[in-house]
Amino acid sequence: MDFKYVPSTCPYCGNGCGVNLVVADGRFVGISPWHRNPVNEGKVCIRGNKSYEFVNSPARLTTPLIKKGDKLEEASWEDAYKEIANAFKSVKGDAIGVVASARNSNEDSFVLKNFAANVLKTANIDYCGRRCNADAVKGLADAFGNGATTNSLADLSQAKAILVVGSNPLEENPLAGRQIILAKQNGAKIIVADARKTATARLADLHIACNPGTGVAIVNGIITEIVKAGKENKDYIAKHTKDFEKAKAAAASCTPDAVAKAAGISAADVTKAAEIFAAAQPAAVVTSAGAGSGDLIRAVANLQLVTGNVGKAGAGVNLLRGKSNAQGAADVGAVPGEGGLTVPAMIEAAAAGKIKALYVVGENIAIASAGANVAEALGKLDILVVQDMFLTETAARANVVLPSASFAERDGTVTNAERRVQRVRKAIEPVGSAKADWEITSGIAKAMGHEKDFAFKDAEAVFNEIAKAVPSYAGITYAALEKPEAIQWPAAGGKFGTAVLYADKFATKDGKAAFAAVEYKAPEAAGAEYPLAVATVWPMGTLSLNSASITREWPEPTVQINHDDAKALGVLDGSRVKVTCKAGVVEITAAVTKNIKKGVVAMTVPAGIMTVKIEKTAGGN
Ligand code: SF4
Repeated sequence: MDFKYVPSTCPYCGNGCGVNLVVADGRFVGISPWHRNPVNEGKVCIRGNKSYEFVNSPARLTTPLIKKGDKLEEASWEDAYKEIANAFKSVKGDAIGVVASARNSNEDSFVLKNFAANVLKTANIDYCGRRCNADAVKGLADAFGNGATTNSLADLSQAKAILVVGSNPLEENPLAGRQIILAKQNGAKIIVADARKTATARLADLHIACNPGTGVAIVNGIITEIVKAGKENKDYIAKHTKDFEKAKAAAASCTPDAVAKAAGISAADVTKAAEIFAAAQPAAVVTSAGAGSGDLIRAVANLQLVTGNVGKAGAGVNLLRGKSNAQGAADVGAVPGEGGLTVPAMIEAAAAGKIKALYVVGENIAIASAGANVAEALGKLDILVVQDMFLTETAARANVVLPSASFAERDGTVTNAERRVQRVRKAIEPVGSAKADWEITSGIAKAMGHEKDFAFKDAEAVFNEIAKAVPSYAGITYAALEKPEAIQWPAAGGKFGTAVLYADKFATKDGKAAFAAVEYKAPEAAGAEYPLAVATVWPMGTLSLNSASITREWPEPTVQINHDDAKALGVLDGSRVKVTCKAGVVEITAAVTKNIKKGVVAMTVPAGIMTVKIEKTAGGN
């Protein structure tokens, strides 16, 4: 038997755990965690461990498909490219939208960005179904100069206190969660703000069971209490920051009593959190892009500046990412250009007839951007082109579908949540005629007459262009990424790059960090029509849905509901319920639990939905 281990990077979350792909006789048959990789030190979670399952799924797309009448029919690459080229040439640039994916490689997103700008002539390119990533990246860039996490995941274990807000690392990014467990074992105090008693919250010394959407109030409350007690780091603020007074004034209305009222918690929790945080050095904040609010990122950046917790190990703003290359996609420019539209704005523009063509690469926007008007918007397009491994809900609506190679079938790089640029290596041949996404995009560009600019020999040739075009990637080469530690950008920090940003100064023009005046804005309140607040749960993505082990563990979406609320509504655990919100109605299974705050439910809802109503279905119990 021909047997080999091919080192690569887990394709699921933004932790970027190192994995060896186990290949037997040309088949990807298993995963062996890469012990020398510093991100996961020889451990993986269930998703990483089962990442060969979606690769081998019989549902993989193997050939291009072109819609004839109502049916998608198999086609050659040549015909598919011709069809797309003709359609794209007939639409003006600003009427074309391009959707990239945070699970595709840096090379994919870089080629796509150049294709959008130089061939399609559109600034409408984005990579997230919601505003989450763009807001988080912009927030950090405005505060510190770089739109990226300040620290390394592993140095979380050195923190003396950790505030987790808008994130559930133990379940969503388990190997980052492991660092929080290690910190606790080392004596750190853990504070978790979450309406749910999640696995992370169960670890906490202080669990602040707050209403959804009140993270800014809590962080502002902590800042206000620290300042009131005179425990702000005056030296650090004076030397390294500007606009502290503005931030202080904006946070001042968040007294413990006001926060208690807004968040449905006790005032003492705010004071206690402030005491814990102010007494610990270093202290870290962990949050996630999925928290969906630029204000929350700016508020936690303020907290870390107030306490001087930037520029050293065990501190910083640690932004966890849902998808493997959320950081890299932004780094290489898969974000809207000057005046360009975000994904939600593209969908709105399509619904209004202003966007006529969409090119979707690796995102299932029909689900990830689930809003009432997505189906209607897609139906109005002149042409929808979808590039994916699977016939997703979005691909099924497309005029042309192009089959992508999986992470195991191609070379490339991805950049994890701690700015570590890591290799993805080809271990097996692609299924059918599937190709790497950057190759497919280049094929379309060539069919549109741009032979020369898209004649990349291989993924490494694309990466070399990235290193020239993106300052933070300067000096990084495939050869330098051979070692298990790879490189955390910026590379100039040494052999392994830069583990902790801003040790001396910030990456802003004047070298100082900018405080922001972050006012707390109350989310839409529960009321008579929609009496329950909702904490958003991310939907299962395309990879998980095509993994038998993962769907066996989590067979269906549920709505988590507090046991007292369920009793009052006559809802039993496991029964079907009707959930109504502004965006529509859905029938779903109830998971009755004590691990969620009364008056709050947790489920996947469209962006912007904060309240719902739940009713028993006829015969639901
Ligand atoms: Fe993969 Fe994230 Fe799990 Fe690591 S923590 S194995 S990167 S899903």
